[in-house]
Amino acid sequence: MMKSCLECGEKIIGREDKKFCSDGCRNAYNNKINKDSNNFMRNINNKLRKNYRILSELNPEGKSKTTRAKLLSKGFDFEFFTNVLQTKTGNTYHFLYDQGYMLLDNDYYVLVKKDL
Ligand SMILES: [Zn+2]
Repeated sequence: MMKSCLECGEKIIGREDKKFCSDGCRNAYNNKINKDSNNFMRNINNKLRKNYRILSELNPEGKSKTTRAKLLSKGFDFEFFTNVLQTKTGNTYHFLYDQGYMLLDNDYYVLVKKDL
């Protein structure tokens, strides 16, 4: 069966398991894949960094309160955090690195900083 190169579509002659017509095409193809995943990771890292910056701004002393509206107005994205901490008392903190937040009543959030 004739196979064609995944990069340029040229017919491949030779071993059955070959996917590319040349080393150049293999490199080009793999570079594109890496670029996509790098972009994906970069976008997530940017969101994490932005969230972290917002929390740091609102919590310069290591402990404070804010509102959901205030966080959203600064562009905080609640879908992105680095880890979740469940306390023995049943509270759930979401962290961006060492900056954390926990939902209180009425859309208020308490902001904390983890001692590292
Ligand atoms: Zn090719």
